[in-house]
Amino acid sequence: MNQKYEAVIGLEVHAQLATTSKLFCGDSTLFGAAPNTHISPITLGHPGTLPRVNQKAIAYAIKMGLACGCEIEKVNWFARKNYFYPDLPKGYQISQHTTPICKGGNVKIKSGDGERSVQLNRIHLEEDAGKSIHDIDDQYTCIDLNRAGTPLIEIVTEPDLFSAEEAWQYVTEVRKLVRWLNICDGNMEEGSLRCDANVSIRLKGETKLGTKVEVKNLNSIRNVKKAIEFEIDRMIREVEAGNRIKQQTRSFDAATDTTFAIRDKEEANDYRYFPDPDLPALVLSDSYLQEIREALPELPAALIKKYQQQYGLSLYDAAQLCEDKAAAGYFENVIQHTTAYKALANWMLGPIRQYLNEHAKDYEQITIAPQRMAALIQLVESGQVNFSVAAAKLLPVLAENNEAPLAIAEKLQLLQVSDTGELEKWVEAALASMPDKVTEYRKGKKGLIGLFVGEVKKRSMGKADPKLVTALLEAKLNN
Ligand code: ADP
Ligand code: MG
Repeated sequence: MNQKYEAVIGLEVHAQLATTSKLFCGDSTLFGAAPNTHISPITLGHPGTLPRVNQKAIAYAIKMGLACGCEIEKVNWFARKNYFYPDLPKGYQISQHTTPICKGGNVKIKSGDGERSVQLNRIHLEEDAGKSIHDIDDQYTCIDLNRAGTPLIEIVTEPDLFSAEEAWQYVTEVRKLVRWLNICDGNMEEGSLRCDANVSIRLKGETKLGTKVEVKNLNSIRNVKKAIEFEIDRMIREVEAGNRIKQQTRSFDAATDTTFAIRDKEEANDYRYFPDPDLPALVLSDSYLQEIREALPELPAALIKKYQQQYGLSLYDAAQLCEDKAAAGYFENVIQHTTAYKALANWMLGPIRQYLNEHAKDYEQITIAPQRMAALIQLVESGQVNFSVAAAKLLPVLAENNEAPLAIAEKLQLLQVSDTGELEKWVEAALASMPDKVTEYRKGKKGLIGLFVGEVKKRSMGKADPKLVTALLEAKLNN
């Protein structure tokens, strides 16, 4: 990027709330149903129908607000946002205008080696529109109204992001948070999370914001980043060529990683917002807010601190475990049965994660009960089974049956051998295979002990107890 300029970005993320029914009626929100099957008269906006608010959607929006440290609005009005669109049968969208349910707050993102708070402007509730489908028929646009009326929260930042990379981090954190709170599946391919990126540039040192362009409907984190990178470059080229940036709405083409203008934006909005007369003010009591606050799960940021302070994990390990709520949950369950915290983290971020990946599973589907996991760690920590052997041979069996780790290890003959007679055979064979090294060792190159231990380990296929082997080797070599 040209060093004269800095980019300023504000993001609007729409998150589809994971309620089973819509925001103002009982229609199902299930994704992938046959077109136009979840469309009651309320969804279709028939005259004489009355919307009623979905209490779960309200609770979900409040959860997100509390998790982001927002101020919660106690007297909520819903507003009609009037515009004509074929997939919006009522001719208006019910949204929140003057009283967004959450105000202010912030989301912490990774930035360099540390973290930074990105300021939020608001989080408001609104209903989604239906879908216009242009690629089924040559002549006609098809409309599926199943999605119309699905609850969304729109999470709006201040213009407080300064690079495509930061935008990437921000969306990643928002997705993690909504999944953690169980309020949205975060599935960008299915449209459960969509992002509009507002981008402007200005000369470094300038405090006034530049003219912004809004890139609509980005449906993957990668596309958010690519669209912003392209826009920053395009704007700098325009300005350098002496042109003025036009305030525009643009769309992203993922095939070419470029954006194109879809409309020039009028200065003032003309949605003629007014309070929906069919919906009374929604008043939230302090006790209701308290109830939701108390039911919030421990959030990743707090857990990461706890894992470092109470369990002595590194920041890196703690953060990795907290990438995924199911993983953190499993960690919490296993530490009910062991105090080998660091060993558990190593297992979870190493062999277990690898095993799950190979079987296209995640921590939600792990089959190893916490007690058995703790027993596995104990086997290794006590030196009964070597770590690599346990990871390669014991773990796959452990994941597939219900036997105790020790019983499996015995059956597969994985227990380390501490019978001196047997160990001596391996030790002698190892030394006999490297006479030159033995001479060097005896002349004083004591560091070679590691090589001999390694050779015995290999010959025993990992079953020789390394402590005993070292002692035996030393006894032989120093004679
Ligand atoms: P609009 O009325 O066009 O939707 P808003 O003021 O509501 O604009 O802002 C929408 C989003 O655009 C917010 O995330 C805000 O932070 C961001 N934004 C506003 N002005 C700028 C700017 N000049 N550059 C970058 N982002 C901006
Ligand atoms: Mg906007």
